[in-house]
Amino acid sequence: MIYINEDLCKGCFICVDCCPMNVYTPSKEINQKGVHVPIPEIEKCVKCQLCTLMCPDQVISIEDD
Ligand code: SF4
Ligand code: SF4
Repeated sequence: MIYINEDLCKGCFICVDCCPMNVYTPSKEINQKGVHVPIPEIEKCVKCQLCTLMCPDQVISIEDD
């Protein structure tokens, strides 16, 4: 499972760029900060944890189902 705290996301898209499996795409909607947040395709994720390490605001957490 991928958890994204959308209220904390600042829309930098480091997670979009760093994910080797192209799990994330920017949302069409904006959050309360007025930015597009990453939307995951969970089935593509290999749980490498790179996005959790790279996100500057600890927005993402990955857990085993
Ligand atoms: S790296 Fe973090 S702050 Fe940046 S878009 Fe992704 S979840 Fe949001
Ligand atoms: S854990 Fe790895 S594969 Fe999964 S979304 Fe993050 S960077 Fe992509």
